Amino acid sequence: MKLRKGFVSNSSSSSFVCDICGGIESGWDLSYSDVDMTECSKGHCFHYGCLSKKDKAIIEAGVKGDEDKEPDEDDDDDDGEEDIIPTELCPVCQLRVVSDNLVQKFLRMKSGKSLDQLGDDIRAEYKNSSQIDEAFKAFEEKVDKKK
Ligand SMILES: [Zn+2]
Ligand SMILES: [Zn+2]
Repeated sequence: MKLRKGFVSNSSSSSFVCDICGGIESGWDLSYSDVDMTECSKGHCFHYGCLSKKDKAIIEAGVKGDEDKEPDEDDDDDDGEEDIIPTELCPVCQLRVVSDNLVQKFLRMKSGKSLDQLGDDIRAEYKNSSQIDEAFKAFEEKVDKKK
């Protein structure tokens, strides 16, 4: 996800949030290549370093095969050098990587509850967010051991 705040006419502060690791890169007039990230046409963005070997290979092969074609119409201003990958190559679009956002949507549908109801469930069990963090840490350790 790319967040951009316009500032003065030719300079802007941008933040990129990696859809894989959740890391945030921000700076002035940042382009994806500055932080070794790429974006798909649906707006997912991620570090190259966060991709699996397989996903890197898929993207590299796909981008190469695509070079002859004209790039899609881009309403963005002057970032011509940023290549945006099509959704067919995007690991997030293709569910090869499942982002927190998708997990949340999936689990909410599975629970069949509204956000308010889930909030009530959470508040019934935990007093504050650090209690949840601690419980989650213990949970993750248990799950990792099972692998
Ligand atoms: Zn990342
Ligand atoms: Zn995508």
